[in-house]
Amino acid sequence: MRSAVKFDATRFANISPKYVYLFADICCLIVHIVFIFYFRYIGVTEMMYFNFFSSALYLGFSFLIFNVENVTPMLGIALFEIVVHAVAATVYVGWGYGFAMFLVCIAPVPFFVEFKRVMTPYIITPVIVTVFMLLKFYTVDDAHVIYPDFDKTSQLVLYTFNSFFAFLMIICIAAIYKISKQISQHQLKAKNETLSRLATIDPLTRLFNRRAMMDFFKQIQRNAAAADSRYIIAMGDIDNFKQVNDTYGHAYGDMVLKQISEAMSILVPSEGYVCRWGGEELLFVIPNTGIEAGTRVAAQIRSELEAMSFSCGADTFGVTITIGVCECGKDLSYEEGLKIADQYLYYGKKHGRNCVINKNPCGVDLNQKLGGAFGDNS
Ligand code: GH3
Ligand code: MG
Ligand code: MG
Repeated sequence: MRSAVKFDATRFANISPKYVYLFADICCLIVHIVFIFYFRYIGVTEMMYFNFFSSALYLGFSFLIFNVENVTPMLGIALFEIVVHAVAATVYVGWGYGFAMFLVCIAPVPFFVEFKRVMTPYIITPVIVTVFMLLKFYTVDDAHVIYPDFDKTSQLVLYTFNSFFAFLMIICIAAIYKISKQISQHQLKAKNETLSRLATIDPLTRLFNRRAMMDFFKQIQRNAAAADSRYIIAMGDIDNFKQVNDTYGHAYGDMVLKQISEAMSILVPSEGYVCRWGGEELLFVIPNTGIEAGTRVAAQIRSELEAMSFSCGADTFGVTITIGVCECGKDLSYEEGLKIADQYLYYGKKHGRNCVINKNPCGVDLNQKLGGAFGDNS
């Protein structure tokens, strides 16, 4: 049978955007470790300690990322750390080292973070811009810089390093945005596919539901007309199923229905479709199949179901099915085929159940449309 449940559209839903955050976190960690050594080398111990703290923070984040559901607080803290670090470093060693560049880089970041309040980025970003400008005024001509006397080479080395990482940061931010967008698009697509897939499946039996089958019918009919081929519709109804419910309870009836559906799915050839047409009515369709082959499948299903046994408490019982089989194709549409299969089924019910009916007992040709006379004679 065509599988109703095997398709796995959720592949992309399992990719976590947290890997992207982890990458950014590790970049920040590496940069701060480099700063520890650099500030120690140039003798700015206050900033060395600051960077110890920052490194510990990003190291902690790298463990936390996969253990918390919401990374927004961590992103907020990281933003705050970057702002404070840029300000402190500029105040300690001067504007010429390029630490303020990091403020420019992170200015748009609040807009990519999922803050609870919509207005949050509109507050944080102007604050960052204001800090940047105030910092420029504050450190102009190294007026308030704590260690203003470093040589030009030292400045150039750190300026180059900072520029490189500032660019890397912009690239990371852009990549995070793009990858997150792609991931959420894939997740959305996967969810939509799963939902539309679920909308075609009957939740109890896991067979296609009637709505899905009606769509398949249109396609099967088109294909049959185009290829001048035949297909069979077989309408089955479990015999005396009400008794099963009445005797063993509805929940047990559900279990029986499930097992019968499973058995039917296995017995219908792979190119076929099995559907829960309604209550305890199960329908199958096999494209490119004539009445003889279709009847053989129906007969096998009938006998296999008859051989199945169910146990409830001390009781062991069996169930049977009656099936009406009709051949459709270019000359007989599925709408007409459904009616005929249903009439054959009705005939089988009237004449003892547990049987397969594949022809009109009144002797009318199978491919001929049947009218009300059939029902009257049965
Ligand atoms: P017949 O041989 O004439 O088909 O007899 P029947 O008892 O099977 O037919 P009837 O139409 O009288 O009753 C159908 C029963 O199927 C009654 C209904 O509760 C049961 N049924 C339909 N859908 C479900 C279901 O999803 N779960 C269970 N447990 N029972 C169901
Ligand atoms: Mg029934
Ligand atoms: Mg019924």
